[in-house]
Amino acid sequence: MSLITCAKQWIVSLIRLFIPRQCVVCGKSLDEYEEALCLECSAKLPCTNYHRWQDNPVECSFLGKMPLVHATSYFYYHKGSDYTHILYALKYHGRKDVGEIMGRAMAADLQTSGFFQGIDIILPVPLHPKKLKARGYNQSEWLARGISAITGIPIDTTSVIRTVNNSTQTRKTAYERWENVDGIFAVHDAHSLIGKHILIVDDVLTTGSTITACADALTGVLGIRFSILTLAVAV
Ligand SMILES: [Zn+2]
Repeated sequence: MSLITCAKQWIVSLIRLFIPRQCVVCGKSLDEYEEALCLECSAKLPCTNYHRWQDNPVECSFLGKMPLVHATSYFYYHKGSDYTHILYALKYHGRKDVGEIMGRAMAADLQTSGFFQGIDIILPVPLHPKKLKARGYNQSEWLARGISAITGIPIDTTSVIRTVNNSTQTRKTAYERWENVDGIFAVHDAHSLIGKHILIVDDVLTTGSTITACADALTGVLGIRFSILTLAVAV
C-alpha cells in the first residue's frame, strides 16, 4: 500500500470516529448493534435465495465453462437501486469493513443450505497489483474474510495472480468484456491446488467473464472443481 493511500485511509478512519455511523443504504443513524445496514434495510435486502435452487440462473450462466459444483449471488441490484450504495461503499468509498460484514451475512445465510460443504479454499478474484496499490485493498478479499470467519475455510491470495491491468469494465459491451479479460490471470502455485474444490468470490456478477477467466487460468490443474459466490448480481 502506498504512503498516500495509507494516509488517506488513516484520515478517513479518524473522521469516522467523530461522525455518527450511518446505514450505507438509507443513511439513517445506526444503533450500536447494527453493522453497515440498519435492520430495516437488512430485512428488505433483495436476496436471490439462489443457493436453495438447483440449476439457478447463476449456475446456468457458468455451466460448461468450468467444472462447476455450485454458484450463487447473494442479492439483486439494478441501476438506481439504493442497494447499489453497498457496492459503491465497498469498492469506491474505502469501506472494506462493509465487505467483511456482508461476507459474514451471506455466509451465515448460505451455510444452512450446505453450500460450503466440501470447499477447500476461498479464492477472492485477484486485483492487478497497480489497482490494489491505488485502492489500498481488494474488495473481494474482504468479502472472503467475512466468509472465512463464519465457515473456517482458509483464503488463498497467492496462488493466482492478475497479470494484466485491464481497463474498467463498466462502459464496455458484453462482447468487449469477454475480449478484455482473456488471459489476464496466471497461476503462481498450481501444485497446491491439485484436487481442490475452490470457491471463487467476487463482488458483482455481470457477464461472468472475469470469473470465467480466473477459472480458465486453473483448468489445467488436475481434479480441480469450482463453486462461485458473488455479493450481487446485476438484473
Ligand atoms: Zn437503512
